[in-house]
Amino acid sequence: MTSTRVLVLNSGSSSVKYQLLDMRDNSRLAVGLVERIGEETSRLKHTPLHGGGGTRESNGPIPDHEAALKAVSAELAKDGLGLDSPELAAIGHRVVHGGRTFTEPTVIDEAVLAEIERLIPVAPLHNPANLTGIRTARALRPDLPQVAVFDTAFHTTMPESAARYAIDVQTADEYRIRRYGFHGTSHAFVSRATAELLGRAPEDVNVIVLHLGNGASASAVEKGRCVDTSMGLTPLEGLVMGTRSGDLDPAVIFHLARVGGLSTDEIDTLLNKRSGLIGLCGDNDMREIRRRVDEGDERAQLAFDIYIHRLRKYIGAYYAVLGRVDAVAFTAGVGENAAPVREAAIAGLQELGLAVDAGLNAVRSDEPRLISPAGARVAVAVVPTDEELEIATQTYALVARK
Ligand code: AMP
Repeated sequence: MTSTRVLVLNSGSSSVKYQLLDMRDNSRLAVGLVERIGEETSRLKHTPLHGGGGTRESNGPIPDHEAALKAVSAELAKDGLGLDSPELAAIGHRVVHGGRTFTEPTVIDEAVLAEIERLIPVAPLHNPANLTGIRTARALRPDLPQVAVFDTAFHTTMPESAARYAIDVQTADEYRIRRYGFHGTSHAFVSRATAELLGRAPEDVNVIVLHLGNGASASAVEKGRCVDTSMGLTPLEGLVMGTRSGDLDPAVIFHLARVGGLSTDEIDTLLNKRSGLIGLCGDNDMREIRRRVDEGDERAQLAFDIYIHRLRKYIGAYYAVLGRVDAVAFTAGVGENAAPVREAAIAGLQELGLAVDAGLNAVRSDEPRLISPAGARVAVAVVPTDEELEIATQTYALVARK
């Protein structure tokens, strides 16, 4: 029997998201989520997508990741898709931080695990959870190839001029401080899909990708390779996000500590969880912000304006970085759904060859599509991202090659 299925796992500190895909046609066989692992009120939500059964939900304590994965496997097994199935070719793990070491998807062995562990100081929230997920999955299926797909990998092609901060080089190197970038799997997928939409090879086009979800980042992709991205050492840098500030004068932090008396942890929480859109207007969901704007709410309007101003600065910056731009692609929750954001981000940029057709921009669709007027010098596109499919594709390509 040929093994054509890939299980994609995204392990957080108290959650596991998963999708099972069949790589013969990239179809999804099942998707699901375990939440609140380690609490009394854990929840498993499982949706089989072949055979038509509905979503199944179970509640009750799931003490750790091992119990979570066993519960997932039991759910999959009910539909004949369990982890022990011979049709399972590999497990692909999303790993947030691959540092400078991991420039591409990598089959996991002890040395790879040790390196992901060594990178914990630069990703203290994410890498430990990713490692727990990998170790648990390996214990359950030690014979099965498991692949790590890194959020940072696509950005490792950035030149030093974009990747380095202008701080003392020795200090930077000692603490591995540099701009790594994140959302790489999405930027890779979307930049390639944009080239495809234009009917051209990725090596022939320059694309500005705007990944606007609750987290948000922009990237400049030259001939298929990332040359700059807006997130840095951590996902805090760059665009205004749902709850993160994005760019700010680093002296704000000294000021908060010296004058405000805030601790490092308090400042971390302020900038990562209570800033961005939610800090500016109390809401981080763009639908709600637009509803309030339409009602004339001034705080929501100001939050929207700050969000758009930053976004336009990055479009301009990356236009200059690339020199020639073939396409600007909007993706993720806001980018794919919020027509007013796309309109405001591109408004008045005709001199750069950028324009949005109001009719095309208003169309709702799950398909990649152009929203620039026919004959525009630079294409403006909406390209839905699919990080799980990208992880599965990269995982399968690596395993099938072996
Ligand atoms: P993501 O992180 O990619 O899942 O994006 C989540 C965000 O997308 C939400 O916080 C909303 O702000 C935004 N979003 C989702 N659907 C819509 C919509 N129909 N209109 C505007 N924003 C949306």
